[in-house]
Amino acid sequence: MELLPIFLNIQDRRCVIIGGGEVALRKASLLARAGGHLHVIAETISPDLTALCQQHGGNTTLSRFSPEQLEGAALVIGATDDEQVNAAVSAAAKARDIPVNVVDQPQLCSFIMPAIVDRTPVVIAISTGGTSPVLTRKLKELNESLVPGRIDALARLLGSLRGRVKSLIPGFRDRIRFWEDLLESDIPELVYSGQDQAALLRIEQQLEVRLERNLEQSPQPGKANSATGEVYLVGAGPGDPDLLTLRALRLMHKADVVLYDRLVSPQIMLRLRPDAEKIHVGKQRTLHTVPQDSINQMLVTYARQGKKVLRLKGGDPFIFGRGGEELQTLAEAGIPFQVVPGITAASGCAAYAGIPLTHRDHAQSVRFLTGHLQAGDLELDWEVLVKEQQTLVFYMSLVGLQTICTRLIEYGMDPEMPAAVVQQGTTDNQTVVTGTLSDLAAKVKAAELVAPTITIIGRVVTLRKHLAWFKV
Ligand code: SAH
Repeated sequence: MELLPIFLNIQDRRCVIIGGGEVALRKASLLARAGGHLHVIAETISPDLTALCQQHGGNTTLSRFSPEQLEGAALVIGATDDEQVNAAVSAAAKARDIPVNVVDQPQLCSFIMPAIVDRTPVVIAISTGGTSPVLTRKLKELNESLVPGRIDALARLLGSLRGRVKSLIPGFRDRIRFWEDLLESDIPELVYSGQDQAALLRIEQQLEVRLERNLEQSPQPGKANSATGEVYLVGAGPGDPDLLTLRALRLMHKADVVLYDRLVSPQIMLRLRPDAEKIHVGKQRTLHTVPQDSINQMLVTYARQGKKVLRLKGGDPFIFGRGGEELQTLAEAGIPFQVVPGITAASGCAAYAGIPLTHRDHAQSVRFLTGHLQAGDLELDWEVLVKEQQTLVFYMSLVGLQTICTRLIEYGMDPEMPAAVVQQGTTDNQTVVTGTLSDLAAKVKAAELVAPTITIIGRVVTLRKHLAWFKV
């Protein structure tokens, strides 16, 4: 290792920054965030930097650099664009044994400032030893996406319990095991999804279990949590795996059993934990593989076996997804659950087809409707639907497309109203057919589109001419 990574306490310590411009401002903000007492010295200091110093009770001195200004400093930053001054700052700091960083000049530094992922109190520092700033940035991005957003809340919760756990579980090894079991359990996930109280309750329960158990007896891994299963109702988006949310992805890696729909794309299925049990409960229009009641019951049964059950649905689980019904069954059965929204087909397909669903000039509202025919027809409030300045999005509308167009024209919508059908939106098979209410159904038939498709009706469809970007 070429450099020793350390985290330095600079609370209320004097941090001297030589330089008064943009670069100095960036470094000063970071030092201020870590509680340093700022002292900025430069011949000219930008208003933003002056304001930052004032805001944090720091000082500014308008002067040329001279070495004695560094006396008593805990840390020095050289941030001028004058190489001679920077070299002098470095020499003066080193002569006084004060850690010094000169921005972008590693040879003048006694320490470097890493890239950071800041979820205080959790801070991840990254360095590639000055070899590649871009690689450093990539590693930072990777960490930003992998580390859960609420890791800070988890860290604070664990921190608040440390003293108590120490007194309740005096043995060092037992204590380590307790924390390991806790972090392996679903308690962190409760915190990540904002259920801090539930997490605390679970920890209390685990502490009680620990106390009742003979501490000498070695616990069986995973046993402590095996009694409590949970269901994750997760929206997988319209198809493109890049449209999964970070939380969806995390829960997909956790689940023991997965109940998935036909609409969940194969590329998304590849992101599941390889050893998870995968059960297809998907629905096709004419072939209801597993009836809804059975799906509801399966969720309960697996969760009662102590499993983490992932109910993976296309799009968003609360939009034409019957997610509400599944949750009602779980709630009645007292099974814990959480819901992860997904990008619904309407917004995914519209975005990938270059059709903004609302637009200042064309549509001030958007409606999501089902086009699923009941006994060959559709019971909808057609008079409201034919009004101008709105966009209609019909899910499940391939079979009923002609009926939808005919009804809208009957109730007074302009027969030339622009409309589009998007097949398998956001995937490699995306196909978009555009037309008007009068000719859309025939065009779709001729193009031999297959489900899933979504229909978008409204003047916004004309914008696709200029805004199409995907697969064009
Ligand atoms: N919960 C889902 C919708 C389920 S209903 C969501 O929020 O998207 C099923 C309907 O969604 C399909 O009949 C089709 O109309 C639409 N759909 C889902 N994925 C689609 C896709 N990739 N392309 C086009 N339509 C899609």
